[in-house]
Amino acid sequence: MLAVPFILVYDFESFLIPNKHETMIEKHVVNSFCYKVICSFDSSLNSELTLYRGPNAVDKFLECLQAEKKRCNLIMWKLRQQYEFPKLNVEEELSFRSAKTCHICKGELVNAVRDHCHLTGKYRGPACNDCNINFQNTKDLICIAHNANYDGQFILSRIHKVGKNIKCIATSEEKFMSFEFDGIKFIDSFKFLTASLDTLVKKHNKLTYANIPHTKAYFKDLIYYTCQKGVYPYIRNRLRHLMNHYLRSMTFMTI
Ligand SMILES: [Zn+2]
Repeated sequence: MLAVPFILVYDFESFLIPNKHETMIEKHVVNSFCYKVICSFDSSLNSELTLYRGPNAVDKFLECLQAEKKRCNLIMWKLRQQYEFPKLNVEEELSFRSAKTCHICKGELVNAVRDHCHLTGKYRGPACNDCNINFQNTKDLICIAHNANYDGQFILSRIHKVGKNIKCIATSEEKFMSFEFDGIKFIDSFKFLTASLDTLVKKHNKLTYANIPHTKAYFKDLIYYTCQKGVYPYIRNRLRHLMNHYLRSMTFMTI
């Protein structure tokens, strides 16, 4: 299986607004998001951490995703031009000429070709022609959140505004395995790491933080403080939101 060239890791935070509705205690309103694009074959192609705080956060997030998808696709297109043909060294060429087994299907070679990575130019091994044709990097941008059913509710409610070709693999009316639009796919890391963030961060090596290199690179000496769950000031934000709402009302009244 080939590694996905680009993934985008994201998270939302929300205000919890008291609701007078009989069956709904609080309304969740997304106030911010943060994401980072990570490249599997060249870390210099990673994006910076993008943080947005403000109104219409979900719509802004979807706009950002479309821009990131274009950026990633352009990078891959340029690399495919650059590495269109395989370049083998002498050792690899000799190995290919004596090869009997396809490195993809592990069966006998049929119409042998030199399989190479079109994003790095690296020779991968001898392959059947048919296997080689089907062995391609995805052009999809894979977006990952932990317990994405929560974040996904917000995205699904706005996705129709910007996207076409919307598909969803749902397990119920409120839960889903994955969904996608226009080559941007959303999956849930909870499906692979079946524990809460609180539990997961406790398993990190508190000396090296080797499992979370991107978080460590960003926060540096403050990494210890960021690996703890339960410090987000939902109530303070709620008060701030209500205050902003009050100030906007005052401004409106002044006008
Ligand atoms: Zn094969």
